[in-house]
Amino acid sequence: AKAGGRGTYRRFNAAMHAQLQAHQQMKLTMRDALARGQFELHYQPLVSLQTRHVTGCEALLRWRHPERGMIAPSEFIPIAEETGLIVPIGAWVLQQVCLQASSWPEHVSVAVNLSPVQFKHPKLVKAVADAISAARLNPARLQLEITESVLLDESEHNLELLQQLRELGVKIAMDDFGTGYSSLGYLRSFPFDKIKVDRTFVRDLPEGKESLAIVRAVAGLGQSLGMMTTVEGVETEDQLKTVNAEGFDEVQGYIFSRPLPASEISKLIADGPLR
Ligand code: C2E
Ligand code: CA
Ligand code: CA
Ligand code: CA
Repeated sequence: AKAGGRGTYRRFNAAMHAQLQAHQQMKLTMRDALARGQFELHYQPLVSLQTRHVTGCEALLRWRHPERGMIAPSEFIPIAEETGLIVPIGAWVLQQVCLQASSWPEHVSVAVNLSPVQFKHPKLVKAVADAISAARLNPARLQLEITESVLLDESEHNLELLQQLRELGVKIAMDDFGTGYSSLGYLRSFPFDKIKVDRTFVRDLPEGKESLAIVRAVAGLGQSLGMMTTVEGVETEDQLKTVNAEGFDEVQGYIFSRPLPASEISKLIADGPLR
C-alpha cells in the first residue's frame, strides 16, 4: 500500500466512519435485545485452593447478536452505560443469577458485576432485594463485585449504600483490585468481604517481580483485614503454584475453566473437585 497522502486519510476516515456506524447500530439494536432474549449469562467457577471445590461462579454477560454473533461485554457494556440501558439489563442479570444460583448446591455462591451507572441508580438496593426474594435465595450466596471506579470517592453516600446492600445479607467484593486509584483508602473505610486481584497482575507471573510483590502484598492485606482473597486470570500451572504459595483463598481462571453456559456449569459443579 502507498504510505501517506490522501489515500491513507480516506481509508482512516472510512474505518472511523464504519466504527461509528457500528457503535450507532449497537445502540439502536440493544434497546430491543433484552426483550428479544438476546442476552445470556455465562458462568466461570471460583475454585478453593484448599479443597479444589467450586465455591462459587462469576456471572459474565454475553450478547448473542442475530447478525454479529456473540459480542463480548467489553464491547457493549460501555454503550449500555452511555444509554442507561445497563440499568434494566443489570436488573435482569440480578434476577437471572439469583434464580440460577438457587438451583446449585447451597455451598455454591454467585458473583455479579455492578456497573458504576447501576450503583448510582436510586433503585439499586430494591433491584437486589427483589431479585433475592423472587428466587428465594439465601442472600449470603450473592456476591456483588464492585470496582473502585464504581465508588470514585469515599463519600458518605457511597459508604451508606454499601451498608444498605450489606444489610440485605449479601457479600461485597472489591473487584479489579489495584487497577484504580483509591483501593487502599476504601479498604480502610469499608469492610469488604472479599478482594479480587485483577488478572493484569497475574499475566507475567511467576517471573514478573513487581507483579509478584503486589500479589503478595494483597494476599497479606486480605489476611490481616480478615477478607477473602481471590485471584483471577490464572492460566498456567506455574501461576497456580505461585498464587497458592502466596496463600490466596480462591482462584478463577482458564486453568480451571473458561466461562461456560449455565447448563455446563451445573454439570461441572456436580462433578466435584477440579483437577
Ligand atoms: P471482570 O469483572 O474483570 O471479569 C473477569 C474477566 O476475565 C472475564 O472477561 C473473564 O472471562 C476473564 N477471564 C477470567 N479468567 C481468565 C483467564 O484465565 N485468562 C483470560 N485471558 N481471561 C480470563 P469477560 O467475560 O470478557 O468480561 C469482561 C468484563 O466485562 C468483566 O471484567 C466485567 O467488568 C464486565 N462484565 C461482564 N459481565 C458483566 C455484567 O453482567 N455487568 C456488568 N456491569 N459488567 C459485566
Ligand atoms: Ca468481576
Ligand atoms: Ca470488572
Ligand atoms: Ca478483572
